[in-house]
Amino acid sequence: MTATACGRQAWRQLIRSTASNLRQQQPLQPRFAFSRQISSTTRSLPSRTATRSPFSLLRQQPFAQRSYSSQGQPPPPRGSNNQVKFWPFLIVIALGSGGYILLVNRRKEMPPTTDQSTPAFSPADVTVLFVLGGPGAGKGTQCARLVRDYHFTHLSAGDLLRAEQDRPGSQYGQLIKDCIKNGAIVPMEVTVALLEKAMREAGSSKFLIDGFPRKMDQALKFEEVVCPARLVLFYDCPEAVMEQRLLERGKTSGRADDNAESIRKRFRTFIETSMPVVDHYETENRVVKVDATPTPDQVYAETQAKLKKVLGDKL
Ligand code: UDP
Ligand code: MG
Repeated sequence: MTATACGRQAWRQLIRSTASNLRQQQPLQPRFAFSRQISSTTRSLPSRTATRSPFSLLRQQPFAQRSYSSQGQPPPPRGSNNQVKFWPFLIVIALGSGGYILLVNRRKEMPPTTDQSTPAFSPADVTVLFVLGGPGAGKGTQCARLVRDYHFTHLSAGDLLRAEQDRPGSQYGQLIKDCIKNGAIVPMEVTVALLEKAMREAGSSKFLIDGFPRKMDQALKFEEVVCPARLVLFYDCPEAVMEQRLLERGKTSGRADDNAESIRKRFRTFIETSMPVVDHYETENRVVKVDATPTPDQVYAETQAKLKKVLGDKL
């Protein structure tokens, strides 16, 4: 057999196998809805093409793709693409509506809004003193004396949070509990809202806000929406002294955070988060600093003397 004969035979073989492959092919599947209209002019093509030569078959390929007919053809291929096309829209609409409903419900659950352009109380009518100092510095003890002698209303942020935590049905109960145990700061919206509510209920004109603000965002928010503070009374105390006092208090206080581990975390939060608040007010000359190391009587004497200098004898 010559090389040409061999080539011819191989060529024929190739043609034959191509033809049989094409015959076995399924009719092409319609991909677009409008294909049915197109197909009315070409619907007989598949049956014709089946008997033609492989070459004509190959030439007919582009037309074969248009042979989508609803008449005399297999029913529209499975999964009817007409319907499938709507799913993405349905999904987008469902997701959009779901998201909107979630958002509306979220807003309903927010604590009472504190978003207002002017503070709820004017500093001309109401005097607010922030009382700050590390945990165990003695803020509560000194506040009690100021209340006794000068008729301040004492609001302890920690006490308000503990009361909210124990209030049946409170949606913040667990969050507050976790924060207190870990010496972390409760989100300011909760604390600011509790303080504003307590101030309204007290109806007083002189407030000691004890243990607040412990973070810059709280300070700014409170002064923006509730009342600008007159000054910060800061009790300065070494960590070792505070730790000793807290461990002693822990024997009877029943507080979940008066234990060695929580105390350590509270110290860290105080240094990292609360001291910048004191520093901020110091730059504004609004801090009255008192050494909190001596006995409560001595600390109180210094407190009175320093406050009187700034606020006058009647405080
Ligand atoms: N706390 C808070 N935000 C505040 C005040 C208190 O999150 O503005 C939380 C914080 O977890 C803190 C705990 O309440 O450690 C106890 O605060 P409290 O003022 O009673 O502690 P103290 O300084 O008197 O030991
Ligand atoms: Mg306290």
